[in-house]
Amino acid sequence: MSIKVITYEGLKDGPSLVLLGNIHGNEYCGYRGLSTLIRDIDEEKYIVNAGRLIIIPMCNPKANKISKRYVDRDLNRNLFPPKINSKYEDYLANIICPILDSADFLVDLHSFGAKGEAMVMFGGENETETKFARALGFKNYLYGWREFHGISEEDTVYQGTTEYARKSGCRAVTVECGSNSDANSERVAYIAALRAAIHLSILVPPEDPDIETIVYNKNEQQCARITKEVIMRHGMVPVESFTNFQFIKRKQMLCTISDTESIMSECDGYVIMPSEKAIIGDIFFTIAKSCTFPEGKYNN
Ligand SMILES: [Zn+2]
Repeated sequence: MSIKVITYEGLKDGPSLVLLGNIHGNEYCGYRGLSTLIRDIDEEKYIVNAGRLIIIPMCNPKANKISKRYVDRDLNRNLFPPKINSKYEDYLANIICPILDSADFLVDLHSFGAKGEAMVMFGGENETETKFARALGFKNYLYGWREFHGISEEDTVYQGTTEYARKSGCRAVTVECGSNSDANSERVAYIAALRAAIHLSILVPPEDPDIETIVYNKNEQQCARITKEVIMRHGMVPVESFTNFQFIKRKQMLCTISDTESIMSECDGYVIMPSEKAIIGDIFFTIAKSCTFPEGKYNN
């Protein structure tokens, strides 16, 4: 088995951008969107102008084949290049990690099981990265994963592609392109990848590009910081069927647990990736507090 890594080298100097799809084998939008982008570049719809564009449309082919998130271990958790390959994903990590080590920017494309809107996840600790994330023109932005989990630099347990890449100075974002079952998520992935490459002046768009999608300007973009994970408990029932990035008000009832116990929102914010399949002990959903975009270090 092999994985396909496509590299375009611009003749002029510029940054390097890595685009990843199908890190999770059952999330197809990145693979499809990036395959379309490769075709469009090869047909010279877009010209590679400067820098380096590296595209890995299908990062986990075996998991793709069996429609599973991963085979032996999750490449978006605990990602590192092991000294000795034993598990299937070890081999993949030893191909993907060195590519991330030399990248200036990364866009990792995913989708989710819930229904709801696409969102961009960024670190919130670096101004260049925040600007890069916002240049993708999405409406919904989420940050604070590392801080919420209290992860140190050495800790690899919650280290996904972006956390790993940031260690070598890469500015890295994850785009959750929509629901696994939403046919539009493939288009969202394509647009995110294209906008990233155009923003960095790696790709030059044609004079009259036919990218007929909404671009959210800075005033329309909304930001949230992860503040809570709600773990599924015995008897827990949501008061409604929540969707990703659904707005919730402070003191809004979210779940009932028993006649006397319930869960209310502690802040104005959003429900993040509610899982309909959560069993007891799983993360049922995450709550993110509505906030302004961070400038440099965390500011709220
Ligand atoms: Zn994923």
